[in-house]
Amino acid sequence: MPEGDTVWNTARVLERALAGDVLTGSDFRVPQLAITDLRGWTVTESASRGKHLLLRLTRDGQARTLHSHLRMDGAWRTYAPGQRWAGRPGHLIRVVLRTKRSVAVGYHLHELTLIPTADEARLLGYLGPDLLGSDWDPDEAVRRIREQPDTSIAEALLDQRNLAGVGNLYKSEALFLRGLWPWTPVADVPDLAGTVTLAQKLVASNKGRWTQTTTGSLRRGETSYVYGRRALPCRRCGTAIQKAEQGDRVTYWCPRCQPERT
Ligand SMILES: [Zn+2]
Repeated sequence: MPEGDTVWNTARVLERALAGDVLTGSDFRVPQLAITDLRGWTVTESASRGKHLLLRLTRDGQARTLHSHLRMDGAWRTYAPGQRWAGRPGHLIRVVLRTKRSVAVGYHLHELTLIPTADEARLLGYLGPDLLGSDWDPDEAVRRIREQPDTSIAEALLDQRNLAGVGNLYKSEALFLRGLWPWTPVADVPDLAGTVTLAQKLVASNKGRWTQTTTGSLRRGETSYVYGRRALPCRRCGTAIQKAEQGDRVTYWCPRCQPERT
């Protein structure tokens, strides 16, 4: 599940593979960039903002950013020249970037666009504070969430305009750890700042590795309390974990540890 930590890790992988080098070839397999040729552009930096990836390029004093979003299923993989591309089926490839020492292949990417770097703020300016950014600002995230007091806390945490980087996994897990019923209106959450801070800690604790855990265990089947565990016993109380649709996503919760407040 690509959430803020996965995107952050992916940005580092692209940085290591490409930064400082000139692109020797590019092959876009999306209609909007089909005739784009990035040969001769230097990759200066790979960054992430919430769940968005930003690959910054320069040439002759011009600056461009290749923007991509992983959503549920996108991925970037890097290979040595000549190495077999083992990542995903070929029909999912959306872009291939080559340098002398690396090949970066983007699979099932979304929102793939090439923009002037100066326009990044316009593209992503709506995002709330980035959980993994150097400018992470929990007070601002809380302020934004409070602007919609009737919204459920689960949907508020997923809304990237409030804070950028939480996805369904960390949302579900943070609410379990806080004992919050996912449909609790924001106005009724007793310690909103504590919930926001916990969500940030969960994402940040998984920076630098690909296995996402909220329980502290990296063993298969033990990495979450409620997420992906429908009908399995709650790790705390043994009650069957429930799953339901909420907005356009699903949510998991323990009905005993996260009781509905009346
Ligand atoms: Zn429970």
